[in-house]
Amino acid sequence: MELKNMDDIVKCPHCGSIIVSESISNKHINGQYNETREFECGHRIVYSPNFRTIEYTRLCKNHPDVLAKKAVRKKTKEKLFKYINRLDVDEEFRNNLNSHLKYSCYYE
Ligand SMILES: [Zn+2]
Repeated sequence: MELKNMDDIVKCPHCGSIIVSESISNKHINGQYNETREFECGHRIVYSPNFRTIEYTRLCKNHPDVLAKKAVRKKTKEKLFKYINRLDVDEEFRNNLNSHLKYSCYYE
Protein backbone atom coordinates (compact mmCIF):
# COMPACT_ATOMS: atom_id res chain seq x y z
CA MET A 1 0.00 0.00 0.00
CA GLU A 2 1.23 3.47 -0.77
CA LEU A 3 0.49 6.11 1.84
CA LYS A 4 0.79 9.63 0.48
CA ASN A 5 1.43 11.64 3.63
CA MET A 6 4.03 9.78 5.64
CA ASP A 7 6.75 8.89 3.14
CA ASP A 8 9.43 10.21 5.47
CA ILE A 9 8.49 7.94 8.40
CA VAL A 10 9.52 4.45 7.30
CA LYS A 11 10.82 3.19 10.66
CA CYS A 12 9.67 3.64 14.23
CA PRO A 13 11.10 7.00 15.32
CA HIS A 14 11.94 5.58 18.75
CA CYS A 15 13.47 2.14 18.10
CA GLY A 16 13.79 1.75 14.33
CA SER A 17 11.32 -1.14 13.98
CA ILE A 18 10.01 -1.92 10.52
CA ILE A 19 6.51 -1.30 9.15
CA VAL A 20 4.12 -4.25 9.62
CA SER A 21 0.83 -2.77 8.44
CA GLU A 22 -0.69 0.20 6.67
CA SER A 23 -4.25 1.22 5.94
CA ILE A 24 -6.41 4.06 4.68
CA SER A 25 -9.94 4.95 5.74
CA ASN A 26 -12.55 7.69 5.94
CA LYS A 27 -12.15 9.91 2.88
CA HIS A 28 -12.17 13.56 3.91
CA ILE A 29 -13.98 16.33 2.01
CA ASN A 30 -10.57 17.55 0.78
CA GLY A 31 -10.09 14.21 -1.01
CA GLN A 32 -7.46 12.84 1.35
CA TYR A 33 -7.83 9.76 3.55
CA ASN A 34 -6.90 8.98 7.13
CA GLU A 35 -3.69 6.99 6.86
CA THR A 36 -2.47 4.57 9.51
CA ARG A 37 0.95 2.95 9.75
CA GLU A 38 1.98 0.44 12.40
CA PHE A 39 5.48 -0.74 13.23
CA GLU A 40 6.69 -4.10 14.56
CA CYS A 41 7.14 -2.61 18.06
CA GLY A 42 3.48 -1.61 18.20
CA HIS A 43 4.07 2.09 17.56
CA ARG A 44 1.17 3.40 15.47
CA ILE A 45 0.92 6.72 13.66
CA VAL A 46 -2.10 8.28 11.97
CA TYR A 47 -2.29 11.03 9.39
CA SER A 48 -5.42 13.15 9.79
CA PRO A 49 -6.53 14.97 6.61
CA ASN A 50 -8.72 17.24 8.70
CA PHE A 51 -5.77 19.03 10.30
CA ARG A 52 -3.04 17.59 8.05
CA THR A 53 -1.19 16.30 11.11
CA ILE A 54 0.56 13.05 11.98
CA GLU A 55 0.13 11.84 15.53
CA TYR A 56 0.81 8.58 17.29
CA THR A 57 -2.14 6.60 18.64
CA ARG A 58 -0.07 3.89 20.34
CA LEU A 59 3.40 4.41 21.69
CA CYS A 60 6.40 2.20 20.91
CA LYS A 61 6.85 -0.56 23.49
CA ASN A 62 10.55 0.36 23.65
CA HIS A 63 9.93 4.04 24.47
CA PRO A 64 11.43 5.02 27.87
CA ASP A 65 8.02 6.14 29.18
CA VAL A 66 6.49 2.75 28.34
CA LEU A 67 9.41 0.86 29.87
CA ALA A 68 9.19 2.97 33.04
CA LYS A 69 5.45 2.34 33.31
CA LYS A 70 5.99 -1.41 32.86
CA ALA A 71 8.65 -1.47 35.58
CA VAL A 72 6.35 0.29 38.07
CA ARG A 73 3.50 -2.07 37.20
CA LYS A 74 5.73 -5.10 37.64
CA LYS A 75 6.89 -3.93 41.08
CA THR A 76 3.33 -3.16 42.10
CA LYS A 77 2.15 -6.56 40.91
CA GLU A 78 4.82 -8.27 43.01
CA LYS A 79 3.71 -6.27 46.05
CA LEU A 80 0.09 -7.24 45.45
CA PHE A 81 0.98 -10.95 45.23
CA LYS A 82 2.80 -10.67 48.55
CA TYR A 83 -0.14 -8.84 50.09
CA ILE A 84 -2.66 -11.38 48.82
CA ASN A 85 -0.58 -14.27 50.11
CA ARG A 86 -0.53 -12.72 53.62
CA LEU A 87 -4.31 -12.27 53.79
CA ASP A 88 -6.20 -14.33 56.33
CA VAL A 89 -8.58 -15.90 53.81
CA ASP A 90 -9.35 -19.38 52.56
CA GLU A 91 -7.08 -20.90 49.92
CA GLU A 92 -9.75 -20.97 47.21
CA PHE A 93 -10.32 -17.22 47.56
CA ARG A 94 -6.56 -16.50 47.67
CA ASN A 95 -6.00 -18.58 44.52
CA ASN A 96 -8.85 -16.77 42.80
CA LEU A 97 -7.36 -13.36 43.64
CA ASN A 98 -3.91 -14.45 42.48
CA SER A 99 -5.33 -15.84 39.27
CA HIS A 100 -7.12 -12.59 38.43
CA LEU A 101 -3.98 -10.62 39.11
CA LYS A 102 -1.76 -13.02 37.18
CA TYR A 103 -3.81 -12.91 34.02
CA SER A 104 -4.86 -9.27 34.04
CA CYS A 105 -3.46 -7.45 31.02
CA TYR A 106 -3.44 -4.15 32.95
CA TYR A 107 -0.47 -5.30 34.97
CA GLU A 108 1.81 -6.42 32.18
ZN1 LIG B 1 9.42 1.36 18.26
